[in-house]
Amino acid sequence: MAQKPNIYIIATGGTIAGQADSASATVGYRAGELTVEQLMASVPGLDKLANLSGEQLCNIDSKDMQEDIWLQLARHVVKEAARNNVDGIVITHGTDTMEETAWFLQLALQTEKPVVLTGAMRPATAISADGPMNLWQAVRVAADPGAQGRGVLVVMNGQIDAAEKVTKASANTLQAFRSIGSGPAGVIVNEKIFWQNYSVAQTECGNTCSDSEPTGNVKHAFSATKLYFPTENLTRLPKVRIIYGYVGGDDALFVKAALQDGAKGLVYAACGNGSVPEKLASVLQEAVVSGVPVVIATRCSGGIVVLPKEMTEKNGFIAGGSLNPQKAKILLQLTLTKTNEVKAIQAFFH
Ligand code: ASP
Repeated sequence: MAQKPNIYIIATGGTIAGQADSASATVGYRAGELTVEQLMASVPGLDKLANLSGEQLCNIDSKDMQEDIWLQLARHVVKEAARNNVDGIVITHGTDTMEETAWFLQLALQTEKPVVLTGAMRPATAISADGPMNLWQAVRVAADPGAQGRGVLVVMNGQIDAAEKVTKASANTLQAFRSIGSGPAGVIVNEKIFWQNYSVAQTECGNTCSDSEPTGNVKHAFSATKLYFPTENLTRLPKVRIIYGYVGGDDALFVKAALQDGAKGLVYAACGNGSVPEKLASVLQEAVVSGVPVVIATRCSGGIVVLPKEMTEKNGFIAGGSLNPQKAKILLQLTLTKTNEVKAIQAFFH
């Protein structure tokens, strides 16, 4: 009989570990109460899929996730992934900021081994709680040789999404996650995983093109096997703030506050393809001149920010490409650990 794979579970809290006072409650519960041992014990047949071990890194609602916990999490994943007797890693996490943690790890890790995040939309005490099935499917994916080299994945509600693309698209429903600009990386039905061979690769000019590969390999703009941003010696990430675009939001109040607070970079969530109100553009340009790079992302839930020459050359802004503002922020933070030179940062966003 084939040996069972060894899967290491790092629990961080979230609704999957949440409890409510009534079985019908899906809001107003307490996230992050069950322990990693309780989570593992709550899933029938989990031990048949893999040999399991794990740890409780923290037990929080993911709205309270902190960048110093990310740095610690990355170190723990690196340590476990380096062990010969670990085949894959599952991280349980609140869904609210799961896409951010997944993307941070995608950029900060270098491993072929599957790293899979999962959570739940209903607390563990709810009728039809989704956590146990999600955890079972996450372990199934982490144990699958086909998941190797695919980078950090999110498994929720029978769907597999890549860290680069995934976003939380519903605040309430079980089908809460989707991939921006592509279909999911795969789906899980019973014990079978169907990789969908669909990915997004970037051309040299920075445009994004679809790239279906018959071999089933998923290409990421940031490959899983290359270390782009070593974080083991960092004690904190550079401070980057997101400024949200909306009608009436051109008074630069938050830009000024962010700069006064010591922001080392800014992301502007533009209303469309990089449109920045005139008044704000000059304040943001001043920020660039003072050495604070500005990335223009979009608040739209799809599309690619491609800036006209004037905005890159005259204003010195950096196009955020297909990353949503919260992911553009993380990439900017990590690039700032290496350089604050606009052209070099733009190259990473390309
Ligand atoms: N507030 C919860 C969290 O992100 C929501 C969830 O896990 O679904 O921790």
